[in-house]
Amino acid sequence: LARLRARLVKSNNVFGKSLLALLSQDKIDDDVWDEIEETLLMADLGTEPTLELVDRLKERVTVEGTQDTAKVKDMLHEELTALIDPSLDRRLSVTAEGRPAVMLVVGVNGVGKTTTVGKLARVLVAEDKSVTLGAADTFRAAAAEQLTTWGSRVGVPTVKSDTEGADPASVAFEAVSEGIENESDVVMIDTAGRLQNKANLMDELGKVKRVVEKKSEVDEVLLVLDATTGQNGLNQAKVFSEVVDVSGIVLTKLDGTARGGIVVAIQRQLGVPVKLIGLGEGADDLAPFETEKFVDALLE
Ligand code: GDP
Repeated sequence: LARLRARLVKSNNVFGKSLLALLSQDKIDDDVWDEIEETLLMADLGTEPTLELVDRLKERVTVEGTQDTAKVKDMLHEELTALIDPSLDRRLSVTAEGRPAVMLVVGVNGVGKTTTVGKLARVLVAEDKSVTLGAADTFRAAAAEQLTTWGSRVGVPTVKSDTEGADPASVAFEAVSEGIENESDVVMIDTAGRLQNKANLMDELGKVKRVVEKKSEVDEVLLVLDATTGQNGLNQAKVFSEVVDVSGIVLTKLDGTARGGIVVAIQRQLGVPVKLIGLGEGADDLAPFETEKFVDALLE
């Protein structure tokens, strides 16, 4: 992932701009604090973290008796950083002893699962890892084809079923079997996400996991969330966490939103680390989540 590390969030950064504009005013009075609060809420930081941050910032500004914009800006940077738990382990499990590392990629349709699997495969291949993909999203007609296209572009095999609507669990099982046979380093399985029917989703995902576990441990369950859906993403995350042990979040479409605060809200409410962020539709538009860089980018 090293090559991608240099990439920063290029969002339509209304958030950082308006916050910094607010803090640059001659006098930071109650109206300004209210506006700061509103801006943070609009960015989907969540109510509790917002109140906490504004309180702490207010207190520091009062105690230190400063209206120096640069100092207040630094304080804002520090307080935002403090909201993101540094103890969360953001490393991806991409190695396993004597077998492929197995990764399930889950999430609601349209959030960017297939694209993320493709991008991540590319990153892993660039790191000299061998990868096998599994197209277990057998519900969406084009998904298997889309994944296969990514696979051939990156030069890795994709296991899929020829029949539409085939059992996703059996495709997942086949993918792991083939990964073991190929001596792949990583097997990544794209799944379907029909959240409209929660019972169905539970059954299907639960089964995929159980069946895969007949063959191998599951090392990573990545939940893909679309940053532009805001709090809705949080609700999705809760539902998925009830079905599978989510070990990491991929937050996609951060390139098209000023709602980057959702990164804070998700990690605080779920205690699950954001491991990767999606910054566009292109093959290179995936980056590891790094708190420092992320806060920098928020405040750009
Ligand atoms: P899936 O149904 O969850 O597998 O979603 P797809 O991978 O098919 O993605 C849905 C749409 O979102 C596609 O048009 C992708 O190109 C787009 N997409 C995925 N990730 C990103 C991202 O990080 N940024 C932007 N702007 N678009 C993305």
